[in-house]
Amino acid sequence: MDAETPPILRIESVAKSFGPVVAVDGISIDVRENEFFALLGPSGCGKTTLLRMLAGFETPSAGRILLDGKDISPLPPEKRPLNLMFQSYALFPHMSVRQNLSYGLEMERLAKTEVRRRVDETLAMTDLTAFADRKPDQLSGGQKQRVALARALVKRPKVLLLDEPLGALDKKLREKMQLELKRMQHEAGITFIIVTHDQEEALVMADRMAILKDGRLLQCGSPEDIYEAPADRFVANFIGVMNFIDGTVSDGVFEAEGLRLALVDAKPGPATLAVRPENVAIGPPGERLSGTVADIAYHGLDRVLHVQTAASHAPLQVRVPASGETAYRTGEALSLKIDPARCRLFARGAA
Ligand code: ATP
Repeated sequence: MDAETPPILRIESVAKSFGPVVAVDGISIDVRENEFFALLGPSGCGKTTLLRMLAGFETPSAGRILLDGKDISPLPPEKRPLNLMFQSYALFPHMSVRQNLSYGLEMERLAKTEVRRRVDETLAMTDLTAFADRKPDQLSGGQKQRVALARALVKRPKVLLLDEPLGALDKKLREKMQLELKRMQHEAGITFIIVTHDQEEALVMADRMAILKDGRLLQCGSPEDIYEAPADRFVANFIGVMNFIDGTVSDGVFEAEGLRLALVDAKPGPATLAVRPENVAIGPPGERLSGTVADIAYHGLDRVLHVQTAASHAPLQVRVPASGETAYRTGEALSLKIDPARCRLFARGAA
């Protein structure tokens, strides 16, 4: 996405306290038009509170929220061109799928033909045309989820806010719906802001994402940016799998027990080396970092070897193709080559 695109939504130094609890601690984020944006972080990091402030259900203690350059803070939820899709779906149980969708538009006093046209279009987009006459209790979990989404989309908000929209679904359906949500967002041409605590879900769906912790923004960027260049140790550990090795840098060389690695631009002092399992290669014993295979985990396309070395307390995880020629055994001695170009260094003691 073009970095020059003006933001549709600007979150400007927004904070929220509940008595002594600081839920959101001065967050600034720009969300671009037609972006699928994820707010991601561990439980209690403030993501739901931030979403509720965008929707107008909470008032910020400080900061501003601008939509298309206009401060929407004074507007009540129903006057904001944003729509929040609730985790609980909140469908009307006594109404059919079609009536659930039509209700909000009829409240806006749209002409009957226009209501019908927009409902039909949204039913088609969400693959619900065949279920239009059913009541919510005659639908599966995934179908109900789609009705909730359709009901939010039919009002054509500028921005759709989704709070853990797939939380109630089982793993398989969740994975299917992740791709469907992305397709529907694309077709509808609406900006989506989704809250999730599931990093894989954010990686699959989001164009960009923000990682929050303790009410603060740690990093904002594309999934690739964040996976390849995490801003700190917490982000590195939270997104994907990361190996950490504590050591010391001097004269541009990172040193830990059994390991010496020359790194460009490394600042001297205590540091933690972070490397992903796919950036560690295996060589014959005697080269580089020596280790012993402690465990082998099969993951379908690949295997992850857990290799005990002297350099770190925890075994290092090394990804190898499951279809590879070499069969590894637990207890086997081997040596590891870490790709210096694909490592990150964090000053020790950092988050
Ligand atoms: P989860 O993933 O568990 O839903 P979250 O990241 O969405 O977590 P929030 O619900 O935004 O987190 O909560 C952030 C912090 O603010 C937590 O410490 C929570 O206990 C606190 N908090 C949220 N709402 C209130 C409230 N109405 N009154 C007091 N404290 C609140």
